[in-house]
Amino acid sequence: MKVINLKTEYLDNPIGIDIVKPRLMWNVEDCIKQSAFEIEAYDEYGNKLLDTGLVNSSSMYYDWNEKEVDYCSIVYWKIKAYDENNNPSDYSEAYFEIGLPKQKWESDWISGNYRVDKKKRYPVDCFKKEFELNSIKKARLYITACGLYEVKINDNRVGDYQLTPGITDYKKKIYYQTYDVNDLLKQGNNKIEIMLADGWYRGSCGAWGLRNQYGSQTKVISQLVIEDNDGNIININTDESWLWSNDGPIRFADNKDGEIVDSRMIPTYSGRAKKTYHNVIPGASNNVAIKEHETFKPELIITPGGKKVLDFGQNIAGYISFKVNAKDGQSIYLRFGEMLDFDGEFTQVNIQCKTKKKTTPLQEVRYICKDGLNEYKTRFAIFGFQYVLVETDIDFDIDVFSSHALYSDMKQTGYFNSSNELLNRFVEATIWSTKGNSADLPTDCPTRERHGWSGDAQIFCDTATYLFDYKTFAQKYVDDLYTWQRSNGCLPQIAPAGGVDFYMDVMNGSSGWADAGIIMPYVLYQKYHDKRILEKHIDGMRRYAKFIQNRCGKTTFQSKRVKLNKSDKKYLNNAGQHYGEWAEPEDVHKMNWLDFATAKPEVATAYAAYVLDLMYEIENILGNKKEADSYKEFAEKVKKSYQALVETNDYSLDTNRQANLVRPLYFNLLNDRQKQFAEKRLIEALDNYGWRLGTGFLSTPLILYVLEKLDKEYAYKLLENEELPGWLAMPKHGATTIWEAWEGNANSNVGLCSLNHYSKGAVCAWLFEEMCGIHVDDENHFIIKPVPGGNFEYASAKYNSVYGMIESGWDKTDNGYRYQISVPANCSAEIILPDGNKYEVGAGKHEYEA
Ligand code: BGC
Repeated sequence: MKVINLKTEYLDNPIGIDIVKPRLMWNVEDCIKQSAFEIEAYDEYGNKLLDTGLVNSSSMYYDWNEKEVDYCSIVYWKIKAYDENNNPSDYSEAYFEIGLPKQKWESDWISGNYRVDKKKRYPVDCFKKEFELNSIKKARLYITACGLYEVKINDNRVGDYQLTPGITDYKKKIYYQTYDVNDLLKQGNNKIEIMLADGWYRGSCGAWGLRNQYGSQTKVISQLVIEDNDGNIININTDESWLWSNDGPIRFADNKDGEIVDSRMIPTYSGRAKKTYHNVIPGASNNVAIKEHETFKPELIITPGGKKVLDFGQNIAGYISFKVNAKDGQSIYLRFGEMLDFDGEFTQVNIQCKTKKKTTPLQEVRYICKDGLNEYKTRFAIFGFQYVLVETDIDFDIDVFSSHALYSDMKQTGYFNSSNELLNRFVEATIWSTKGNSADLPTDCPTRERHGWSGDAQIFCDTATYLFDYKTFAQKYVDDLYTWQRSNGCLPQIAPAGGVDFYMDVMNGSSGWADAGIIMPYVLYQKYHDKRILEKHIDGMRRYAKFIQNRCGKTTFQSKRVKLNKSDKKYLNNAGQHYGEWAEPEDVHKMNWLDFATAKPEVATAYAAYVLDLMYEIENILGNKKEADSYKEFAEKVKKSYQALVETNDYSLDTNRQANLVRPLYFNLLNDRQKQFAEKRLIEALDNYGWRLGTGFLSTPLILYVLEKLDKEYAYKLLENEELPGWLAMPKHGATTIWEAWEGNANSNVGLCSLNHYSKGAVCAWLFEEMCGIHVDDENHFIIKPVPGGNFEYASAKYNSVYGMIESGWDKTDNGYRYQISVPANCSAEIILPDGNKYEVGAGKHEYEA
């Protein structure tokens, strides 16, 4: 047997975490069972920190039980496991390193030496420090910024993280990065240089490109800690002795708007850095960083208007690089967009918000060449794009351009294949939209708003946890939600909240959005079976649950008139403002602004019951039976109010709005009579709409689960529909990412519609969970319950779960279906086939015909 996939707190050999009693994790292969394991851990000096001895256990994790690991120390751990016959594996090794503790931050925050005028924009700051070293045994750089930083030591870039330090509500929380810089330093004279740009901190954020959202003075703090061969510790700290100037090549940098670069300029470092302050001490992120991933080469399009456009073939979030020979002063102007218009011309119209004074985002790069070779790669901006409009007086060969995808460094864990090519392409597009919306926070789109909308994150979390190793990324976002939480328990529509217009504040607490604070930890628990995420946030969740309970029965000026008696109103959530179902097809429900200026008794009461039901589950998982039961009791009362509400004319179940039928059926809110009626009515509504999708944001991920319960062929009929509105219509119209509006840009030439908005891709969870039947049931155990159907010849899914790679697929035979299931080593599964037969199986491949 072998021990593989060694991780510390879900991360591969992390350096700079601050979990001093971490969870060590692994998988095994080439065996049936792990009967025991043994772990030893040593510090860098060879001192033994951990020796578990032989632990007779099949668990593939170990919670550090011994003394806390010291800050700044590296821990090398190795593990040997024993198979079902007690044969040992070889040792497998990994390491982790604890970062700098809060009390050890002794550097000063420094900034550019100028007085900030909030209305102005400034070039990138350049800082430098030179220093001597006698010898280097170990060297670590700890650094973060209010803004974005990039560091060089002796002219070499430090690390491969991008857009560091990422985004948080910098006023409350800020993460630093740790770099191993041993190899960059040398005996004798050394230099360290830092560039500092606006980033999320003071650059444009949100739909309207609001600036100075977290502060107006960018600043950086870094601590270079070197241990020499004699054991001396040398600290090179940021302080007033650092040199500074802002006359380097990057004249302007903004996440949304892009960069202006004059490559002829070289920083003079003629001034001094200014010492400044920040009220937050940096902490470790315990998360993956943003990195550059795939690279694409373009094809050249000459548009009907004679413009040169690069088509990279894949819509991404990222940036560009090029290498050209040019003369001093020649220039290149690049604009980044997602589509060509119906005349075949480049356009940004679908992603830009415009007023008389402002257009945002600009998504452009203006580059002025020096004489000779010019090499460029964007540093401090990120764009959503597939096409680049090039305007230049330089004769270029298109091969000199590349696009680079940028996203948090999560590994792909989910793979899907089927006989329906359009569906495969839809899943691929969903994977690309996940990448495109994962630059340190889950966003709606990488173009227009780039907000951490809680609704979008909530809707998509189940799918994301199948497709990617999502745990640390999602955990960081859940932390962001709770960092925002108000004293009345309210949770936000967007986190971190920079870039949100003040008039939107009333939408915090919106049902289906703020509920992410309960739904996401619950989904993460189901996939990773790690109670700690529930324990960490249980107090916040209870406060949010209380916020919801307080809204029930309350009347506010936004409340809708409902014709119910007092007792039925008592548990109705008819208070506050909510987005509601949001973005249903225009001909199903036309959106108007009043739509979200009012309470939404139907949607909000449904979600109140749903999240209180989840609280019941969560409290039970944590062993708090009393609390669990009280949530259940409340949820039942809310359901009764819901049942009364749908008896009124205004909220009748006799409707063609699919969402209004899907929601109560999925959340199990109706009495038997109502349920039967709603099921029948849903099928009629689909018939009336030609079996196309009529749901909006919230119910699209739910509809197939509801239909499957009635008759799986209903679910397949809807899934396989290729007409607009429908999932498969997107790849059919050439989409390489998921569209925001059902119509995308297929029917309209203009209009505000992002083409990289993953929420409608949330149906992918159903493909893994139901179509191929993969459920993570409990520690080392799966339930595999495939549901074949429709016109599919075959379908298969692979999921690299926290317990190893589980695979489930089926293909049509003359008499029915053949099922092929592969259970990872040390795991077991209950296989439930559509004919009702059940099989309890162990690790290995299993095949059935039925
Ligand atoms: C965003 C959505 C978001 C919504 C709120 C939109 O503009 O792009 O994804 O959830 O507003 O309803």
